Amino acid sequence: MNESQIQQIHSLFSEQKQVLIIGHRNPDGDAVGSSLALSLTLEKLGHNTKVIMPNALPKSLKWLPGCDRILQYEIDKKAVDSILEDIEVVFTLDFNSLSRVGELQQPLESLHKKGVPFVMIDHHQSPEDYAIVTYSDVQMSSTAQMIYHFIESVGWLNQIDASIATCIYTGILTDTGSFKYRSTTATTHRVVANLLEAGAVNWQISNNIYDANSENRLKLLSTALNNLVVLPTYHTAYITLSQDELDAHHFQKGDTEGFVNYALSIENINLAVIFIESKQEEIIKISLRSKGDFSVNEMSREHFNGGGHNNAAGGRSTLSLEQTVNYFREILDTYKNDLTYD
Ligand code: 5GP
Ligand code: MN
Repeated sequence: MNESQIQQIHSLFSEQKQVLIIGHRNPDGDAVGSSLALSLTLEKLGHNTKVIMPNALPKSLKWLPGCDRILQYEIDKKAVDSILEDIEVVFTLDFNSLSRVGELQQPLESLHKKGVPFVMIDHHQSPEDYAIVTYSDVQMSSTAQMIYHFIESVGWLNQIDASIATCIYTGILTDTGSFKYRSTTATTHRVVANLLEAGAVNWQISNNIYDANSENRLKLLSTALNNLVVLPTYHTAYITLSQDELDAHHFQKGDTEGFVNYALSIENINLAVIFIESKQEEIIKISLRSKGDFSVNEMSREHFNGGGHNNAAGGRSTLSLEQTVNYFREILDTYKNDLTYD
């Protein structure tokens, strides 16, 4: 954050404010951890905060401190609509475009039109320009790490207690694949060390998130791995899951999280994709991951109505599962050179 941004935040919070904090649709550990950490911090400073997610959180996050305060727009529309009337500041966290909040987009645009100031904190590429403070840094491991730097820059570091530290730690842990991805820097580790000193219990958080597998999820993983296709010429591997396969394993939100990484873990594979059918949304959800320089952000923007980061992006297709996979296999040829490296 630069000096003028810091000053703007100070002037915004020079008196008590009603604050709205929003994460993206299908919120993950980073969106939820960042939102709760900011909410808990602002509450300690005497502000009123409301945390709203467009839809449900995965079960693996429902233990997070302050989680009970989250409202879901999809099921609490009336409550949320009345809350919005009094909002004086909006934080949008872990997304770069208002189109990423589903049905909340319209109410947010109304607030924006009314002149309510927005603050964006995010690490995705190509941020939209709707905020009076846009704290965007695509090099950052996670929005949660940025929340730490934000709190530090505005001089609120002494507010970070064990609950806030736990929320920030969770965001960093999940968005770095447990500190493995390229975006994990020495600064990330320094921030994490400070969080542990503030009371975050690393092994407990990791247990809560990663060691809560259900039998159904593991069996769904076995189906996914069974469907794995490897295309050595293209250094590519992909997985499909049909709605019938999800139903057979009593799919719950979050169950397919991380499946695509098994495909990426294969030797010499630089691009991994999972295609998941959603009959309810009438789309194929696509998660793309890469190793090295190949940009799945660009591939997803170009072909799958999505985006994200260089090495992790999401997207969707309105074709059938089979047609989507065929389309993917067709376009791969244009990427052959870009995908060929060690
Ligand atoms: P996932 O595959 O886990 O859904 O998403 C991977 C990354 O891409 C996450 O950082 C997520 O926020 C981002 N992402 C997923 N879908 C979209 C999308 O439609 N647009 C953009 N800009 N980013 C996305
Ligand atoms: Mn993130």
